[in-house]
Amino acid sequence: MDLHVHSTCSSDGGSSIMDYALQARRAGLTAIGFCEHADFDPRDQGYGYLDMVRYDQELHSAREHVPEVLLLQAIEITYQAGLEGQIRDWLSGHAWDYVLASVHLVDYEDGWALVSEPGTANAYYGTHTCRQAYLAYFEELLRAARSGLADVLGHLDLVKRYGTAHYGPFEPRTFSAEIRSVLRAAVEAGMGLEINTSGLRQAPGEPYPALEVLRWYLELGGQIVTIGSDAHRVQDLGASTPEALDLVRAAGFRAVAYYQDRQVRWVDL
Ligand SMILES: [Zn+2]
Ligand SMILES: [Zn+2]
Repeated sequence: MDLHVHSTCSSDGGSSIMDYALQARRAGLTAIGFCEHADFDPRDQGYGYLDMVRYDQELHSAREHVPEVLLLQAIEITYQAGLEGQIRDWLSGHAWDYVLASVHLVDYEDGWALVSEPGTANAYYGTHTCRQAYLAYFEELLRAARSGLADVLGHLDLVKRYGTAHYGPFEPRTFSAEIRSVLRAAVEAGMGLEINTSGLRQAPGEPYPALEVLRWYLELGGQIVTIGSDAHRVQDLGASTPEALDLVRAAGFRAVAYYQDRQVRWVDL
């Protein structure tokens, strides 16, 4: 299964929900989780794009045409501490299979950056030391984990996507205290941790997060791990799932998880 996919219901998605469903059937996937973007800040490129009526309709139609594949309706919120009340209210207006919380946007002294977009990200990294840039991201991520808004924490160390070009390969041990705090908060909140394989297709050449951080999550009592490609087009559906499963096994987990109606479900390895 692939639990992190963006269709054309997201501003940056290139394939329709139906195309993903048909591709999943061809490829023998049992489930897809659509994690369309919900962005709450007018500075965000995806702000105001999501149309829930369309999302519901397209999903309904794909479920009818491709009943063999479990099509989960999820949402990827761009978490921002200052907008928590607004995000909570919005989420309560719809039934989700699961909610993924991601940090994409970091506010800093005299600006802001989308850490997932080269334009603003490069300006951010260019004016901060590695420690400053990464800490601001992990601090916001800690607030996301503590918020209780979501079921799963998305792409834990996405900050390395463009950070790698400025500071070299990401070394989790440099931020071990901060990352462990995030993981501990996630465990306390009963949140799952996503292994996002898109990092294997991008500059870091490893998933978000990689093996060491997965081991820390397990050590701290974390059990819920989900796997997603963050595909924005059908060509990437299910990308690197076998590698992610190897990583989950290597870290010592015995099962992977998915969610339906916000209830965690398990697939034994
Ligand atoms: Zn994301
Ligand atoms: Zn995503």
